[in-house]
Amino acid sequence: MTDAPGIDAAEILDGIRLWVEQESHTADVDGVNVMMSLAEEAYSLAGAKVERIRGRDGYGDHIVARSPWGGDAPGILVLSHLDTVHPKGTLVTQPFKVEGDIAYGPGIYDMKGGAYLGFYAFRQLTRTGRETPLPITHLFVSDEEVGSPTSRHLIESLGRQAKYVLVTEPAREGGKIVTARKGSARFVVTVTGQPAHSGARHSDGRSAIKEMARQILALEELTDYERGVTVNVGLVSGGTGVNVVPASCVAEVDVRLPTPPIAEEMIDHIQALTPFDPDVTIEVSGGLNRPPYEKLPGIASLFDHARELAAGIGFELQDLKTGGGSDGNFTAALAPTLDGLGVDGKGGHTHYEQLYISSLEPRAALMLRLFETLE
Ligand SMILES: [Zn+2]
Repeated sequence: MTDAPGIDAAEILDGIRLWVEQESHTADVDGVNVMMSLAEEAYSLAGAKVERIRGRDGYGDHIVARSPWGGDAPGILVLSHLDTVHPKGTLVTQPFKVEGDIAYGPGIYDMKGGAYLGFYAFRQLTRTGRETPLPITHLFVSDEEVGSPTSRHLIESLGRQAKYVLVTEPAREGGKIVTARKGSARFVVTVTGQPAHSGARHSDGRSAIKEMARQILALEELTDYERGVTVNVGLVSGGTGVNVVPASCVAEVDVRLPTPPIAEEMIDHIQALTPFDPDVTIEVSGGLNRPPYEKLPGIASLFDHARELAAGIGFELQDLKTGGGSDGNFTAALAPTLDGLGVDGKGGHTHYEQLYISSLEPRAALMLRLFETLE
């Protein structure tokens, strides 16, 4: 499969198993920190310089591992998250197991498999005594699954110093990697009306739920599949009793945005919502969470390079644009970014999360070849 000696699927899978069997739900700070210690230890043993950034605001630590070569020159940033969406205890009902070419486990696909591949490719270098033209930095964050609130600054600062960014999110259907992602915005819409007895004084009331119902329809109608815009009102709550005209209603809105100009247009529109009923007030908070990740020329040529390397290894690499966000959204405008370089499989965030063992060797080889050839 590859001319780099020693890449071995069984060895990679053993390493992934160890990481999968350490549960690390984003909210389980202790679990995440033990997971971070495994990554820290692995990289230290592989000869990297490791820095640990203490967690805050209820999230776990972040780890930065740096190659001993290359100094402070702009290099390759490998970006991974070690938190998962699976609550502590999932392993009991969803243990690591192998059936034929498939390995199952919580977070195995998103993204402990890919995070481990990045490490494994690095270790292939140090254990064969090789250095690469560019220094390599591998960042592991603890809070990606909730939008990277405590790691965004670190991601952006390392992204600005990088020449290239390789993100180890899982591959998409048929092993495709990601060269563009939609951006996302979140809003909380609060409507305040007038409470009243629904029988005796109905006409004195101003229903916040009625107003919100109209706002929800208007928001949902902003969805435009052709332009790549989706608006989802995902949570609604309001009212205090069935016999009270409701004075308050709150809705939470998730918006996906294909390009920066469309993002700006939609965000301006939603932030300026006005009430249909002049007697109620409406308040909108929130805005852009992850900016759109566009396939800029530097990303297109980095992809072409990766595709040639894959052909040399023996597989065809394709790319796509996805609606899902990742930390790659934060770096794409700062340095050419390839995403979805992790393992192939399916079922991210589900009970059947799985990777294809046959994808491990070629994708580890691709990561290694990228390390070796980028300059
Ligand atoms: Zn992920």
